[in-house]
Order: sequence, then structure tokens, then C-alpha cells
Amino acid sequence: MNRCVRSAPPEPLAARAQEWTRRWLEQCAAKGAAEFRWPQVDSKPLNQHLTESLRAMTSEHCSYCDNWIPPGVAETIDHFRPKACGRFPGFAFEWTNLFLTCWVCQKAKGEQFDELLLKPDEPGYDFDRYFVYRPRTGTLEPNPNASPEDRRRADRTIQLLRLNENGFPRARQRECNLIDAAAFRFCQGG
Ligand SMILES: [Zn+2]
Repeated sequence: MNRCVRSAPPEPLAARAQEWTRRWLEQCAAKGAAEFRWPQVDSKPLNQHLTESLRAMTSEHCSYCDNWIPPGVAETIDHFRPKACGRFPGFAFEWTNLFLTCWVCQKAKGEQFDELLLKPDEPGYDFDRYFVYRPRTGTLEPNPNASPEDRRRADRTIQLLRLNENGFPRARQRECNLIDAAAFRFCQGG
């Protein structure tokens, strides 16, 4: 999980997030289990207006597993705090709650959430603070020198996002053998 720096919210979201949030909360209140849909903006769904900014934020990589996501292909927007009614519907249009992810991570995370989960753009987040990369196995482990609380968060993040499953260890080993391995923060780890 590479650190990323959050940009300002893209225009349609900045201008209308409050309105859309209010509407979504009303739908939840009315039905209890409403189906979430991105609102249409200029004849296309809102998520399509957001991906460019999100892609720029992570240099086109998944916010969680760091795999490169080819433009327009297998990308999705994850709600860090699940947007569903009864979970965190007030965060459905919260810019800081949205992350570009690959489909594998989106599926692994699903509707799960834990307050311990690390956020790649949170203040103080840095790969080395929480994780070490083991080149031999391609796996991530909590940094043994981190504080107990930091180790707990790293461990929970690895488990919940299944960062040592789904072929990710192998993918990391491949990335770190490439010429541009320096782009991947984790390659310099342990
Ligand atoms: Zn991913």
C-alpha cells in the first residue's frame, strides 16, 4: 500500500456532494435498504467524472494492492467506509472516502470495514512505518519495529484486504524485478 496524496475534490462532487448525500440518506430512511446508484452528471455516471482524479492520485495503481490498473479496464471506486444504508451512508459522496481500486481488492474488501484499517492517504501513513516486504515470499508483514498499535493496524489491513493472497505476492515479486521497481515503495523494504 503506497502512500498517496489526496487532491481537491473534482468539480461535480465539490459542488453537489451535500445534495447527493441528503438524497441518499432520504432513500435509506424511506426504504431501509435502497440500491445505491451513482447520479448522472452531464449524461454519464458520477464515478466516471471521478476516476481521472483518483487515477492521478495513485499514479494509476490500485490504492490497496498497488497493482497497475490499465486505463478504462478493470477499475472501480471503493467506498472505504461502506456506503450502504445502515453502514456509513453519510460517506457515500465524501471525497476522502473514495479510492481507486482493482476489482480483486474491491471483491476482497466487499462491505467489510474496520476502524483499524489503514488508509493510504491518512496523515502519518507511510509504507515503511507499518509494513515490511519479504522479497523471498513476496509477502507483506507488519513492521516488527513498529508500535504495537501500528502492528495491529498493519496486520488487520493485510488480513482484511487479503494482501498476501490473490496472487499478490507473486505480482510483487514480478514488479520488483522490473526496471522501474523504484516506483514501488515496498520493493525497498526488508
Ligand atoms: Zn488491488
